[in-house]
Amino acid sequence: MKVAELTKSLVYGAAPEAAKPALDWIAEHNGRFQLFINNEWKNPSGKEWFDSTNPATGRKLGSIAQATSTDVNAAVKAARKAYPSWSATPGHIRARYLYAIARQIQKHARLFAVLETIDNGKPIRETRDIDIPLVARHFYYHAGWAQLMDKELPDHQAIGVVAQIIPWNFPLLMLSWKIAPAIAMGNTVVLKPAEFTSLTALLFAEICASVGLPPGVVNIITGDGRTGGAMVDHPDVDKIAFTGSTDVGRIIRKATAGTHKKLSLELGGKSPFMVFDDADLDSAVEGVVDAIWFNQGQVCCAGSRLLVQEGVADKMVKKLRARMEKLRVGDPLDKAVDIGAIVAPVQLKQIQALVKLGADEGATMWQPSWAAECAKREGCFYPPTLFTNVAPASTIAQVEIFGPVLAAMTFRTPEEAVKLANNSRYGLAASIWSEDINLALDLATQVKAGTVWINSTNQFDAASGFGGYRESGFGREGGREGLFEYIKRKPAKEVKAPVSKGVSSQKAATSRASAGVSLSMAPAIDRTAKMFIGGKQARPDGGLSINVYGPAVGKSRNLIGEVGAGNRKDIRNAVEAARAAAAGWAKATAHNRAQVIYFLAENLAARTDEFARRITQQTGFSANAAHAEVDAAIEQLFTAAAWADKYDGRIHGVPQRNVTLAVPEPMGTVAILMPDDYPLLALAALAAPAFAMGNALVIVPSPAHPLSATDLYQVLETSDVPHGTINIVTGNRDELAKTLSEHDDIDSIWYAGPTPGQAAVQKASAANMKRTFVMDASGALPNLDDVLREATQVKNIWVPYGA
Ligand code: NDP
Repeated sequence: MKVAELTKSLVYGAAPEAAKPALDWIAEHNGRFQLFINNEWKNPSGKEWFDSTNPATGRKLGSIAQATSTDVNAAVKAARKAYPSWSATPGHIRARYLYAIARQIQKHARLFAVLETIDNGKPIRETRDIDIPLVARHFYYHAGWAQLMDKELPDHQAIGVVAQIIPWNFPLLMLSWKIAPAIAMGNTVVLKPAEFTSLTALLFAEICASVGLPPGVVNIITGDGRTGGAMVDHPDVDKIAFTGSTDVGRIIRKATAGTHKKLSLELGGKSPFMVFDDADLDSAVEGVVDAIWFNQGQVCCAGSRLLVQEGVADKMVKKLRARMEKLRVGDPLDKAVDIGAIVAPVQLKQIQALVKLGADEGATMWQPSWAAECAKREGCFYPPTLFTNVAPASTIAQVEIFGPVLAAMTFRTPEEAVKLANNSRYGLAASIWSEDINLALDLATQVKAGTVWINSTNQFDAASGFGGYRESGFGREGGREGLFEYIKRKPAKEVKAPVSKGVSSQKAATSRASAGVSLSMAPAIDRTAKMFIGGKQARPDGGLSINVYGPAVGKSRNLIGEVGAGNRKDIRNAVEAARAAAAGWAKATAHNRAQVIYFLAENLAARTDEFARRITQQTGFSANAAHAEVDAAIEQLFTAAAWADKYDGRIHGVPQRNVTLAVPEPMGTVAILMPDDYPLLALAALAAPAFAMGNALVIVPSPAHPLSATDLYQVLETSDVPHGTINIVTGNRDELAKTLSEHDDIDSIWYAGPTPGQAAVQKASAANMKRTFVMDASGALPNLDDVLREATQVKNIWVPYGA
C-alpha cells in the first residue's frame, strides 16, 4: 500500500487526556463545594445544594452550594469591608497580585483545562489551547493597567463593590474578563458562576487565597438565577456586570433602573459570516468551522448566519458539507475531537426544537452521514447542522440557537450583504471574507457590530474590547475601553472643573439675586415657538402650547412666552427625521462635521446679546452672567468641533498577527432631555459633542427654560446643519421621555431629571436595550470626556496580516 493510500484509510485512535487530576481535586473536597466569602469556605445558609454533572457522561461530579440572599449579603458585606483598603492599595501592589494570579493559573493550567472540560463539555483542545491561556493573559494584561492606573487615569477611581454574573459557555474565561479589570482598578467583587459550571470558579477562589489576596476582595458564591437576582437587588452593590441572555439582561436593566448602579451587559448575538465571491473559499470554510462549531456553537458571537455571494454559494456549500463530514464529535477529553458535548439536556432540547422549527418553516436541513451516532452516545451530543434556503425573516435566521447550527443565505451585492447582516436585533460580531481589503474595510464600518473580523473569526484578546451594539448589550470588556466599566470620575473638587468659565453654581446663584432688575427687560408675551423637525419649523401636532414663566419675583411669575406641547406624534416625526438623517451624518467627514459646528458657533456669537437677554429673562441671571453663559456655550461649540476630527480610535496591541483597530462610532440617533440649569450652555455641553461625534439628535429642551433652544432654530437654519440631524421637540419632559425611551429607533437616551424619571427611562429602555445616560436636572454638567464616551461606541476591527 502506498503512503498516500495509507493516509486516506487511517482512522483516528483515541487520544484522551486523563481526567484524574480534576477528579482527584474533586475528591479532595469530598465532592462538596462551599461558598467562598472573605477568603473562607462557608456552608450555604439555606442548606441547599445542587448537582454539577459532566454533560459528556451525565454523571454527577459534585454538590454545589446554593447561596441564599443571606449569603449574598455576607459576600457583599465582606467586599464592602475590603473595599477601602483595596482601592487605596498602590497600583503596583495590586499589579503584583494580578500577576501572581496569572502565574498560578499557568502553573495549574492542566488541572483547570481538564476540570473545565469535564464540567462544561467543551473539547480539551479548546480549554487547553484557548480558554486557559486567554484567562492567564487577561490577568497579565490587567496587572499592567493596575500598574499604570495612577498615571494613565489620574482623574478616575474605582467604583466600589461589583456584583458579577456569568454564563456557562466560557466559565473561567468569562470570570477573568470580569474579575481582572475590576480588581485591577481597585474594586472588590462578588461573582456568581452559572449553575451548570461552577467548578473552575471555585478552583480559582483557591488560587486567590493561595496568593494571599486580602479577604473580601474576591468572593465567589454559587447558585442559580435566584442568587443572581439577590445580587442584582442588593442595595450595597455599586455596579452589576452581567454576561448572559438578552432576556435576563432585560430583567436586570429593569431591576437596576433608577438605582444609580452602574451596569454593563454582554448579551446574545446572531452574528453574520459574510463570504464574497473573491474570498479564499478554503480558508472561509475553515473560518466557518471556527465560527459555528467552536464550543459546539455555544458562543455569544458565533457566526451563526452564513451570508454567501450568489456566484460562489453552491461551491461554498459543497466544500462546507465535505468538511462537516470530516468533523469529529465525541468525548471532549479526546484531543482529536472537534465538537464536544452540549452543556445540559435542557440546552440540547432547545437546539433540537429550533432545528425542527427551521425544517418546518421550509429551510433545507443537512447533517453529516454519521449524525445519528450523536444520539446514541451517553451524554448530550448534537451533530454539526447546516440549513440552506433560509428565509431572512425565519426563526432560525433571527433567533439565537446557541448550538452547532448554521443558517445559510445568499446575497448579490455588497449593499444587500450589509442589509442582510444588519437584519437582526443583535449586534455583537461579524466576519467578512474577501481578498479585496478596500471592500472589507468599507463593509466593516457599515455592519452594526461591536467586533468585526476580516478574513478571520472568533479572535479574542485582553487588549481588544469586546461587547455589543443594539440588543447584544452595552459596555466593553477588555482593552483600554473596558476599564471605564470599572472606574468613575473622582469627585469634582479633585479635578479641574469642566465648564467653569463664568457659570459656576455660586456665580449663578448670586446673579439670580439680581432677578428684579433683569426682569424689567422682559418683553410682552412672545409668539408660540414651534417645534424644529426635519430642518423645518413645525406646529405641534396637538395644537396645544405651554406657558413659559420667568423666575419668581415674590409670589408672582412673569409669563415670558409659550412653546408647543409636543406629543407622541411630534416625537415620532422627530425620530423619523433623525433616523433618516443619521446614516448620512455619520458618514460625513469629521472635518465637515467640525465645520458645521464652527459655523453654528459663529452664528451664535453674532447674536450674543439676544441670547444673553433670553437667558436673563428665563433664569434671572444678571446680564454679565448671561453673557458669560453665551460665551461659555460658544467655547463649548468650539471644543465639540475640535474633537470632531480628533476623537481618534486606537490600535490595540494584540499578540496575534493582526492590526486591531478600535474605532469610536456614533451611537446613531440620540435623544437628549435637557437639564434645567444653564439652558444654552447645557445644549452646547451635551448636544454639541453628541452631534460632533456623528449622531442625529432629538432634543427636548428643559421645560423650565425652553426658549434658548427654540431661539436656536434660526441659528440652525443658517448654519448648514443637515435637515433632520438636529430636531427639537418642546413639552412635558417625562411624557416625552416615556415615548422616546420606548421608541425602537432611538439608540441612546440621555435624561436629566428627577430620580423617578431616571428610573422610568432606564426601565423602558430595556425593550431594545438602548443606552441610557442619566443626570440630575440641575447642578454641574457632565464632564466632556464622559459625554464623548456616551456619544460613541467602540467597534474593534481585526485585520490580519502576513503573507
Ligand atoms: P442566562 O442569561 O440564563 O444566565 C446567565 C447568568 O445569569 C447565569 O449565571 C444565570 O444563573 C444567571 N441568571 C439567570 N437568571 C437570572 C436572574 N433573573 N437574575 C440574575 N441572574 C440570573 O444565560 P445562559 O447561562 O443560558 O447563557 C447563554 C446566553 O448568554 C446566550 O444568550 C449567550 O448569547 C449569552 N452570552 C453572551 C456573551 C457575551 O459576551 N455577550 C458571552 C457568553 C454568553 P444560572 O445559570 O445559574 O441559572
